[in-house]
Amino acid sequence: MGTELTKGSELSELISDVREKVLYMQELGVASLGVELTARSALATGVEARSPRVAIAAESVAPRDAERSTPLPPANAGGFDKKPGSRLASLPSLSSRKTMPFFDKYNPGDDGRGARADETTVLRSVKIAPTLPEPTETIEQIRADIGPDCTRCKLSECGRKQVVNSVGNFNADLMFVGEAPGADEDIQGEPFVGRAGQLLTDIIEKGLQIPRKDVFIGNINRCRPPGNRTPEPDEAAVCKPFLLREIAVVRPKVIVVLGAHAAQGLLETKVPISKLRGHFHDYLGTKVMPTFHPAYLLRDPHKKREVWEDMKMVLSYLKTA
Ligand code: SF4
Repeated sequence: MGTELTKGSELSELISDVREKVLYMQELGVASLGVELTARSALATGVEARSPRVAIAAESVAPRDAERSTPLPPANAGGFDKKPGSRLASLPSLSSRKTMPFFDKYNPGDDGRGARADETTVLRSVKIAPTLPEPTETIEQIRADIGPDCTRCKLSECGRKQVVNSVGNFNADLMFVGEAPGADEDIQGEPFVGRAGQLLTDIIEKGLQIPRKDVFIGNINRCRPPGNRTPEPDEAAVCKPFLLREIAVVRPKVIVVLGAHAAQGLLETKVPISKLRGHFHDYLGTKVMPTFHPAYLLRDPHKKREVWEDMKMVLSYLKTA
């Protein structure tokens, strides 16, 4: 007799728990549970034999009228001294529920009187900063993918001698990105090795006091454009993803982009280099400092002072990052 009484109170508690949850979901606007908890399925658990109300409670996601007509398990049934539904009743209704702390934090416009924030608006206001994709390959694998005789863009048909891949430390904190190889680079197969390259080496080693081998140096396009012309948009669009994959592998703290076309290509902007330089930009969470191309400095040495200002900012950031 005592065992029957205990099972009866457990069953009563189970029924009221299920009913509370269903009613709560209904209040949240759930129209369907996506599962069928019918009298038959309840029977399979052996519950139906004792109380058909289980099936009724599960179906109460239907209109509230049906729910109201559902008889509640009697209070104190089987010695169960908690009134069924009391936990739900103790909760504030949705209309009067206080704004949650999370929403308070991201909803400064809340008047603090408990008005519930519109969750869609709130979530829209929470910005998740994009970051570099996790590397799933190595620099060697990227180079193997490019191949020594890449023909993906028309620069392969314009008299290039070889594909000029990036060089340097694969774990570098500092990366330099140019536009495309020139004649010297095309011959030697390494970026920034001509006169402009020597000036870049001086900036790195004499200015920043970092050995050239400790930085990573690459170009947006890996094949020399004829007559050192600027790579055309379709040529840059095809080759740039290789550089972006390398950035995801190296994960530098700062990327220095050299010249207007490299800076505009990486940052996807048309803002002139004179306005881009002098402050940091962002590429997927990585600091980007545009500055003048060394070849431009050879033509106008007065611009070296501005490049040095940019490099001092880079150096300062590297020391604190
Ligand atoms: S520039 Fe890049 S995409 Fe075009 S042929 Fe050379 S390696 Fe291939």
